[in-house]
Amino acid sequence: MAKIAIITCAKIRDTSCVGCLKCFKAAERKEGEFAQYDDVRIVAMTGCGDCPGLVMPKATLLMEMADYLDRDIDVIHLGTCLLKANKTAACPIDLEAMKVKLETVFGKKVVVGTHTY
Ligand code: SF4
Ligand code: SF4
Repeated sequence: MAKIAIITCAKIRDTSCVGCLKCFKAAERKEGEFAQYDDVRIVAMTGCGDCPGLVMPKATLLMEMADYLDRDIDVIHLGTCLLKANKTAACPIDLEAMKVKLETVFGKKVVVGTHTY
């Protein structure tokens, strides 16, 4: 069972991507980037902190709360919303650099993307 935390684009989530239904659907069906797991459970979601991207402090808070609540996180996914913001708008986050930074600081596998809908 892969326990997943997703970091989302604060501007897209619940605006053009409502209720995070797409990521929950893909996780349930093991589609998109979730196809790599035998079993998958989304245990946490948090926004990037809005532009210009406060991913590291938000991820730090998330990990602290996960520890406090005794919740394991195996993998951090950067949501497809973050990819879309990066490819189609002026999102300043360098996704590959962010992936390396998250992996280095938290010692977790980081996957760029979630669903393909
Ligand atoms: S891509 Fe996923 S995490 Fe991002 S807003 Fe859509 S459903 Fe939510
Ligand atoms: S555009 Fe980028 S920095 Fe701005 S809210 Fe979305 S993901 Fe965060």
